Amino acid sequence: MHEMGLCDAIVEAAVRRAGRHPVSSVRVRITGHPVDAGVLEQGLRLAAAGTVVEGATVEVIARPPSVRCRDCGTRFEAVDPRLLAACPRCGGVDVDASGAEEVVLEAIAFDPVQERSS
Ligand SMILES: [Zn+2]
Repeated sequence: MHEMGLCDAIVEAAVRRAGRHPVSSVRVRITGHPVDAGVLEQGLRLAAAGTVVEGATVEVIARPPSVRCRDCGTRFEAVDPRLLAACPRCGGVDVDASGAEEVVLEAIAFDPVQERSS
């Protein structure tokens, strides 16, 4: 499933960045990717099982895709990636959406340092 591959990749990136530190929260920014945030959060929790990311709070920020008008070069955010986007400046519909999709591990936060009391 495409979403699962995506989740695995995000968790992998978080694990790489975290090293051995338990992660308390993960923030993921998705641009223009037609994926349900709830589905993705669930997938991330599954993918995180058994890693330092397990149990972390998952925050998904979904952003509309950034596209470029081929007529006038204006960059704008398409409100809905499934709808045809029209340029707000010239009204053109010949837009370049290549590279508009992006999934970024934006931030991770660690659990407060757990002091060993022994
Ligand atoms: Zn335009």
